[in-house]
Amino acid sequence: MSEPLVVVEGLRKVYPRGVEALRGVSFTAWPGELTVVRGRSGSGKTTLLNLVGGLDAPSEGRVTVAGREVTALDETGLLELRRDVIGFVFQTFGLIPVLSAAENVGVPMRLARRSAAEREERARLLLALVGLDGHAAQRPYELSGGQQQRVALARALANRPRLLIADEPTGQLDSQTAAQIMRLIRALVRSEGVAALVATHDPAIIDLADRVLELRDGVVVETVAGEPRMTTS
Ligand code: ADP
Ligand code: MG
Repeated sequence: MSEPLVVVEGLRKVYPRGVEALRGVSFTAWPGELTVVRGRSGSGKTTLLNLVGGLDAPSEGRVTVAGREVTALDETGLLELRRDVIGFVFQTFGLIPVLSAAENVGVPMRLARRSAAEREERARLLLALVGLDGHAAQRPYELSGGQQQRVALARALANRPRLLIADEPTGQLDSQTAAQIMRLIRALVRSEGVAALVATHDPAIIDLADRVLELRDGVVVETVAGEPRMTTS
């Protein structure tokens, strides 16, 4: 039995003006599994993903990713975590417009000081993995939304992360393209053995999940393999 990759315990987040976005959330996420965080707008999905990814600090509680206690890391530790352990995918793709698809995929590898030859080789491999061989030289504006999100996925995998965090990755795509991207994410989770944490409020996508965490007003109700059960927190 493998170890959980993400362990979240008793997470609370109170924003400055007193909004309590998370009120005691606990869960685990596993290598090779797709965990979907669902819930309507304002339920705390983005807050939760930001805290797991070390992009923001909780008011209370603890996050551990790949054995590192995220909530105890300093700035340098957080930078290393985000560079080496986690790959991020965003709703708006976040590609750099002046760079080609291959160069965008190479950005995290530059940060990790990989050689140009190594970057080119791995970018080519990753673009093929997401179904974009032949598009390496194109700039983001020469690609469709679905293709841009594929580039963003390839970029997220560049440094062989153990955890993929995606915040509404299909929010700007039509439903057919959205379904393709989600199937791709699940295939990558299986083939690369990463744990994925994906926030969405698209019901069509939730069928693909191994686990669903439903957030309601900052509290989580967990469903595993179709069996609803309450988590204690
Ligand atoms: P979701 O991603 O599910 O839409 P969010 O995590 O963005 O939910 O927001 C959860 C709650 O926290 C909402 O009530 C939102 O208005 C509030 N919130 C989010 N970010 C901030 C912030 N930076 N400052 C104050 N309140 C925030
Ligand atoms: Mg959000």
